[in-house]
Amino acid sequence: MNSFDQVSQQCRHLKLASLVQELPVLLQQAEANEMSYLQYTEALLGYEVQQRNSKRIAMNRRKAGFPVEKHLEAFDYRHQTTINKRQVNQLLDFDFIDNRDNLIFIGPPGVGKTHLSIGIGSKAIDAGYKVLFTTALSLTESLEIAELKGELKKKITTLCKNDLVIIDELGYLPMNKQGNYNLFQLINALYEYRSIILTTNKDFTAWGEFFVDENVAVPIIDRLIHHSKIFMLGGESYRLKQKT
Ligand code: ADP
Ligand code: MG
Repeated sequence: MNSFDQVSQQCRHLKLASLVQELPVLLQQAEANEMSYLQYTEALLGYEVQQRNSKRIAMNRRKAGFPVEKHLEAFDYRHQTTINKRQVNQLLDFDFIDNRDNLIFIGPPGVGKTHLSIGIGSKAIDAGYKVLFTTALSLTESLEIAELKGELKKKITTLCKNDLVIIDELGYLPMNKQGNYNLFQLINALYEYRSIILTTNKDFTAWGEFFVDENVAVPIIDRLIHHSKIFMLGGESYRLKQKT
């Protein structure tokens, strides 16, 4: 076996799958550029690290479960004037995730709440964070299923592995008492430990309507609002604009 084959085999043995494919190119570059031993080592390891990072980000993106792709670059601030680009850009240093703060977008349908949440979540993934997107309805359903199986705690532990949990459309449908309780357990586990982006069409004053149990509603709201940046979005629905 020649040296090249031997190195290839060792790469496979060490599970350096992408490096082994790139090896001829990297070798050629090293020779062409008369790299030092250190430079070449850096090129080899750097390539593998970069490949692993991009694979991890691609996997995190698949796991996030975004219903559609939305990009902040496509957000039109001339239409949506109740939030500006600077406010959104300020969020993209992800201090809010590092500080376990929440973002709450409140506003009527079509004003861009879901678009902004997915756009911000998507950038967070690019920055290396783990994100989960879910609607309040499907979250409540999956918590209920887990609870019936006696696995609520396990489910919540899994959800808490994300750095950021996006809960879309809270308040479109009322929840039953058990649903309130399950959601409280989750919010309590995420509180000051992970970040939440919440979107809702209802003002805080109306939140009592979908939390049927007052005893649970107050502490849930309390935990969501504490350490949160609240954005009240208004204006015309973008969906209606597109029809004209
Ligand atoms: P909401 O969640 O507030 O009901 P969405 O974010 O789902 O609204 O927005 C509805 C549609 O309009 C989506 O297709 C979204 O991409 C688009 N949209 C909303 N606001 C804007 C905006 N300011 N610029 C570009 N597209 C927008
Ligand atoms: Mg929405």
